[in-house]
Amino acid sequence: MDKNFLKLGIIGNPLSHSISPILQETAIKSIGKNGEYKKFECDKEHLSETINFLKENNYLGFNVTIPHKENILKYLDFIDETAEKIGAVNTVKIKEGKLYGYNTDIFGFIEPIKDKKLNNAAILGAGGAARAIVFGLDKLKIKNISVCARDINKANIFINSLKDKINTNINSEILSENLDFSNIDILINCTPLGMKGKFENQSPINLNNINKNLFVYDIVYNPQETVLLKIAKEKGLECINGLDMLIYQGAKAFEIWANKNPDIQEMKHSALNYFYK
Ligand code: NAP
Repeated sequence: MDKNFLKLGIIGNPLSHSISPILQETAIKSIGKNGEYKKFECDKEHLSETINFLKENNYLGFNVTIPHKENILKYLDFIDETAEKIGAVNTVKIKEGKLYGYNTDIFGFIEPIKDKKLNNAAILGAGGAARAIVFGLDKLKIKNISVCARDINKANIFINSLKDKINTNINSEILSENLDFSNIDILINCTPLGMKGKFENQSPINLNNINKNLFVYDIVYNPQETVLLKIAKEKGLECINGLDMLIYQGAKAFEIWANKNPDIQEMKHSALNYFYK
């Protein structure tokens, strides 16, 4: 085994659109090492087999993405406190044949906004990313979170599954143009609306009834400017897309595997080239 050759990968399904190989191979080069980051597309029935393959072939670690972020839990030997609280793992380190699970999505979400003073948040959507983001906002000690989803039953199930795990107040609302966001200082889009493909020309909301200091965080990263972000800019609001979140979650995962900080700017440069050139 060549210790200078870093073997990394990602398990999920589908993986055809994953940018992680580009980000992580840039990270490997940025610390002056050689290595690879391979895609392992597999269904739930082949998860155990895939993990064993990675263990037996000297992989240093791997990312886990949809649909296996929860499925992976039962295979882990150790789980980090934050990942355990969320019940989802996106990063696994392999050390002496044991599997250590972490969740770096929260770090990725927080990093671009960690210095902001925020009290009241609205999250649009109640899926997997929204779940990690609730924990991120709780970590930031936000006072109130409103989860706005098109299906109020799903939103209620979502908030009820989280209430006991966080300190922040959380409530649910039906996603509509009539919502009053005048008290909200950060609005986070966790729906796929605006994303390249069939949703590209859509926005979850037109940003009526808002506070003029609202910060808009669209976690969609492709295209660079979603319809929501275009509306936000037209209204003079501060906003960001999801690219930094993607880069920071990847950088944190790399740091866990390699015990070294990759060059974030190089990672960002390769992502910018890939998506928006
Ligand atoms: P998910 O688990 O499928 O959740 C999607 C949420 O959006 C659900 O609440 C869904 O509601 C809602 N939704 C879907 N279509 C909608 C519509 N037409 N109108 C209103 N709500 C709608 O997906 P996810 O994993 O949370 O990902 C959500 C988005 O975040 C994706 O675009 C993904 O690319 C992005 N993302 C970015 C990062 C990053 O690092 N920047 C990380 C993760 C995800 P229903 O349950 O009613 O369908």
